[in-house]
Amino acid sequence: MLSVIERLRSRFDVVEYGRLHRDADTYPLFAIKSREWREALPVVLVTGGVHGYETSGVHGALQFVEQHTADYAGRINLLVAPCVSPWGYERIHRWNPDAIHPNRSLREGCPTRESAALMQLVATVRERVLVHIDLHETTDADESEFRPALAARDGKPHEPGEIPDGFYLVDDTEHPQPGFQQAIIDAVAKVTHIAPADDNGEIIGSTVVAPGVIRYPFKQLGLCAGITDATYKTTTEVYPDSPRATPEQCNAAQVAAVRAAIDYALAQR
Ligand SMILES: [Zn+2]
Repeated sequence: MLSVIERLRSRFDVVEYGRLHRDADTYPLFAIKSREWREALPVVLVTGGVHGYETSGVHGALQFVEQHTADYAGRINLLVAPCVSPWGYERIHRWNPDAIHPNRSLREGCPTRESAALMQLVATVRERVLVHIDLHETTDADESEFRPALAARDGKPHEPGEIPDGFYLVDDTEHPQPGFQQAIIDAVAKVTHIAPADDNGEIIGSTVVAPGVIRYPFKQLGLCAGITDATYKTTTEVYPDSPRATPEQCNAAQVAAVRAAIDYALAQR
């Protein structure tokens, strides 16, 4: 990841917006910004690795920056925080994947210190963010970040549930954008399969409001996708454990989602 960020320094402004200290280790927090930042242009915010071990969020964000940003030159200001929780990202390399078990402190939306640094980074541009796309995965090892948060909010025990096989999106209950979500689902469906609803018409316990789309109140739950008042907001959930999806496909699905999100938002202006 850091080698990719080094490569990007020739074309983008790379800012270190914070530093985490855990045990004896230090983890710099990097963001990538358009070099030709123009006040008149809308801001597109891409966040990945809020749960650091959800690797396609990190790699998908970087792949988008490396390979696709030229298409948007002069049309947007891009701000990308590809790995909000580098500690979690690094950890996956140290642990056998079978030994990974969910860390509760990372489950309730954005983790605290990482999230404080991110909020500070975003504060200067918050009013001009048109699109915020937060890139995640739902894995077999983790069940989901949302259900434990919901259970905690409602004061209920977290009941284990089914893991959906496929890609899905989480829209904001308080400011839903069905057309925006649909455009992303249509684009991702060309790359990987979309999660079907279960027998209850749900994905991870929430009503499916459109194919591959559920909703959560972003701000109320303190989810990362709620850190701005962007008109267009979504959370992607890639399923990397599917027998029908390769890691390359998972990264490509994240990239397709980012592209479709930006394309849709720009087309509405
Ligand atoms: Zn996540």
